[in-house]
Amino acid sequence: MKYGNVCPVCRSRYGRRIFSSPYPLPAAKTLNRLDYEICFLCGVIYPSNKPSVQQLHLYYKYHPDLNEPNHVKRGDRVLSFLKRNIEMRNKKILDIGCGDGYLLGQMRRESGYLYGIEPNDKRRKSCSELVKDAVVSESLSEIDPDMKFDLIVMTDVMEHLLEPQAILSRTKKMLAPNGFFYVDIPDVSGKGFISDLFFPHIHHFSKDNFQLFLRRNGFNINDSDNYDMGTTFLRMFFCAAEDKNSGKLVVPAASARSAACRIEMNVMKKLEGLDRFLNAALLKLEQSLFQRKGAALVIYPCGLQIQMLLQKFFSKLPENVFLIDRNSVLQDKSISGVSVKPPEVLPSIVDDGAFILFASGDMNTNKALMEYVKSICREKFESDCLFFNGKATAALRQ
Ligand SMILES: [Zn+2]
Repeated sequence: MKYGNVCPVCRSRYGRRIFSSPYPLPAAKTLNRLDYEICFLCGVIYPSNKPSVQQLHLYYKYHPDLNEPNHVKRGDRVLSFLKRNIEMRNKKILDIGCGDGYLLGQMRRESGYLYGIEPNDKRRKSCSELVKDAVVSESLSEIDPDMKFDLIVMTDVMEHLLEPQAILSRTKKMLAPNGFFYVDIPDVSGKGFISDLFFPHIHHFSKDNFQLFLRRNGFNINDSDNYDMGTTFLRMFFCAAEDKNSGKLVVPAASARSAACRIEMNVMKKLEGLDRFLNAALLKLEQSLFQRKGAALVIYPCGLQIQMLLQKFFSKLPENVFLIDRNSVLQDKSISGVSVKPPEVLPSIVDDGAFILFASGDMNTNKALMEYVKSICREKFESDCLFFNGKATAALRQ
């Protein structure tokens, strides 16, 4: 019954399609689609079609919406875990996917030899400003291949990689003798936001299959636990295994199959919740289109759930619908026949008459966006504003 692609963890071919995600890439006219398979044996979820490394690199290089409000809290948690495992003083440390430097900044108190990798131009600049003595590069290829590190960390990165295995072998080569590797990943069998399942997350791991994956790539586990940031994160601390063990095929334990079942059930439950949300959102959208007839309808922002909603129910949107988003990678993409425009065009649409605005969960985390929408709402169309999200509505009405 072998029918899937090769599982990146256990190398079996027992994968089958479980869901898809729309995603924008630079220089494409429409949204792309990423299909995910789940491995019947080990439960890892992996893509059966992918963008190229260059396309994904461009996506991260220019993506503007990468602010994470919980970074400092997160840095504390990672640092205390690291300190319980190693003495960090005078260690040479590399943070792959260092973002705006929240973790490097905290590690500076412990160590003076800090290196970071960050593909996003804006974040890399922030990191260099925040941690002045760190050496921050755009990609791993800029690092001297002979340089060795005592500690390599990857927080919230592995699930974004197209070829996690390639980074693992590179990481192993860059570790000094007795060096350590720390990684944390969202646990697909745990709690999480529905958006965790979709692009830009490419692989979904859980504790058993991630440990198996690392063992196959020459790492032994020293310590692990999890922490909760709304999403359950697994964190694990590894040392390099002796070379004679690395690369050997490690078969999933018998218990892995039941773990794989639990993962699948958990994911199906989340997808069901998403379906209910999309159906309710469709009703609101249909009502607005019907009540307003001819008047302009603006949908802003056009995040993942809106993209799914439109793609699922509308092959072609009516002419009075406008799509707006700040993400430059998304702009000028056509969704259900309508091209996404930047927020700068909003005033010209507003002037043409009444319209309804749809907003999504993004409003809770993005203060600047909320203030912007609020200011337009007050001036132009307070009573015509419609929100998917209860919290956002409450915040706008206070
Ligand atoms: Zn597998």
